[in-house]
Amino acid sequence: MKKKDQTKKHYRDYLFYDILVRIFIHLNVADLVAASFVCKTWNLATRAPQLWKKLDLTTLNYSNYFNIPMLVNSWKDENSSSKMTRFLKYVTNLSSGNINIIIFNFYVYLTDDHLLTLAKRTPNLKRLVLPLTGNISKIGIETAMKSWSGLESMTITSIFKDRHYFTAIGKYCPNIVRLKFTCTFEQEEAEAVVNYTPNLKELSIRFVIVNLRALCLVLNSLKDLEVVNISHSLIVDKLDGEFEMYSLRNLRNHLDASYYRKLIVCETGECLRCQNGRNNDPRRLPHGPLEDIWRQDEITSLAH
Ligand SMILES: [Zn+2]
Repeated sequence: MKKKDQTKKHYRDYLFYDILVRIFIHLNVADLVAASFVCKTWNLATRAPQLWKKLDLTTLNYSNYFNIPMLVNSWKDENSSSKMTRFLKYVTNLSSGNINIIIFNFYVYLTDDHLLTLAKRTPNLKRLVLPLTGNISKIGIETAMKSWSGLESMTITSIFKDRHYFTAIGKYCPNIVRLKFTCTFEQEEAEAVVNYTPNLKELSIRFVIVNLRALCLVLNSLKDLEVVNISHSLIVDKLDGEFEMYSLRNLRNHLDASYYRKLIVCETGECLRCQNGRNNDPRRLPHGPLEDIWRQDEITSLAH
């Protein structure tokens, strides 16, 4: 009789766990952490692997506990930065190594501590979206990339401009097939992409300034490159000391037809940037529309 009761209890607990996980899947990361402190059963449910495929830190802006302002370089002071490190340690402990995607908070200043805390505990990472600002050391990027050898996709911001960052990618991450740049794309970036991500298939240089020669270099050199998103980008070159801008029609004249066909442009006004431009909610200004484009998954949204 006692044995039968125990079986019933186990079955009921299993059902409760299953229901909790189905509810928790709708929570953002801050609420999930709060739920983990309620009781042992809730804590167990918050550790379900299916809750941790994507770690989206952008939602911290809307959490009462964090209250991160939507301003560039937020949480740069030591106390706030340490708080973020502790939070990252806790969530990666809950995730048990199941995180495949990390989207950093757009506004929070990134440090070596943040990057390495995540890198040590996310061995299965496939996609990384960097924040807008931060300061990462050479040794920090080397260590992180060594841990993320299975990385396939990155969104690169202006903090990743130094060449030795790309050297680390070339050394430890041979599976990179998708890159998105949210900063200018000049000759130096093009050379780094060609030299250190030779297997690249998709490149997004949407809504940035693109040097024509840099664009030609990647199109000429990367044999596996299938698409390049240049929607709303300014294509320029410097000729005889003067800047020249190129329209799509000009580009057609400069590029081989097979290369031109690889370019994606916005012709219908329905791309993410156009949609965000129509969202003029003052609470999200000045960086909200930029954040929307930055955080989008280029793998599926590349062709709008
Ligand atoms: Zn558009």
